[in-house]
Amino acid sequence: MLSTIARLVASGTAVSRADLVPAAGLARTTVSAAVDDLLARGLLRPDGMRPTLGRGRPADRLAISAQGGTILVADLGARICQLAVGDLNQHILARTEIAADVRDGPGAVLDAVEDGLRALLRRSGTSTPPGAIVIGVPGPVDGRLGIPVRPPIMPGWHAYPVTARLRETFGCPAVLENDVNLRALGEARALPADQAPLLFVKVGTGIGGGLVTRDGGLHHGADGAAGDIGHVRVRGAPDQLCVCGNVGCIEAVASASAIVRSLPDVEGISALRALLGRGDPAAIAAVRDAAGLIGELVATLVHFYNPARVALGGSLTAASDELLAGVRSVVYQRALPLATRNLVLTNSVLGERAGLAGAMVLGIEQVLSADTIGAFAAR
Ligand SMILES: [Zn+2]
Repeated sequence: MLSTIARLVASGTAVSRADLVPAAGLARTTVSAAVDDLLARGLLRPDGMRPTLGRGRPADRLAISAQGGTILVADLGARICQLAVGDLNQHILARTEIAADVRDGPGAVLDAVEDGLRALLRRSGTSTPPGAIVIGVPGPVDGRLGIPVRPPIMPGWHAYPVTARLRETFGCPAVLENDVNLRALGEARALPADQAPLLFVKVGTGIGGGLVTRDGGLHHGADGAAGDIGHVRVRGAPDQLCVCGNVGCIEAVASASAIVRSLPDVEGISALRALLGRGDPAAIAAVRDAAGLIGELVATLVHFYNPARVALGGSLTAASDELLAGVRSVVYQRALPLATRNLVLTNSVLGERAGLAGAMVLGIEQVLSADTIGAFAAR
């Protein structure tokens, strides 16, 4: 119940005792006792007065105290890792980017992540101890066990105890999540609630998806594999061999890496982005072909999930509108009107910051969770 109250304040849903009563669906005396408890623990703090409409006296505002814990986040891509230190009010205190190749294995990569986060903590100037650490990785994970599960592009990471190691290093709860799930969550929480269910599709080195449900949480499925769409095959895909061992996976034929492979003399995704920026006809044609295949997949998913919004992300979306235009045209042509009547299909509003934003949300929810909040008085 303390967790419910703290999370309502943290999300801005209700920031006074009077507003918390209907928002939590609890009795006034129960809410009041919980607020007093959270104030005594130093997790909530008074935040001045909020004028009320009408004749009622001004309500006492409440806010989450930044003293409740510092949030550490790491968003690991295939080759680089974004790091940030934030507080419980979603303020980023410091951030940086480090080179980290997931192919070097978990030992070397997590050494670099831990060193980077320690340096960032010093730079942030905060004296509040870490309350939670959240790490996103480009592969499937078992969030409950805190381990990656046979990630195709991360050799050596299968079953590595990522959260156990980070918990030991930083002395706080650790959360492991798939990188596209983090983007989906960050994107959904930056938008009005009526933009969920939200499907996030990332097109980068690979292709991945993440789904935020109508109530604002991630849909993980039975084993955490929900949204792992890179290895499905769509109509018309060529017989290209995929890293997973199958042929014709969407990731093998339509990811940014696949587009690069299809173009002669193009070295890497940044070179492809540069070509798109210059309006190179061959590069644009290759992106259009890929967008057609991705559109087939998204049209199927739109029918299955009926999302309010589909957000496209990844490094290509910033370089060119061809991907979005191509996906849109196929989805609106192939999906039936009921599924697309109110559908918003657009590029991610947070872009490459979506993953960090989602990780911050998960970190704050971890600190304010029933499991962690009870331990807070001991600090
Ligand atoms: Zn595959």
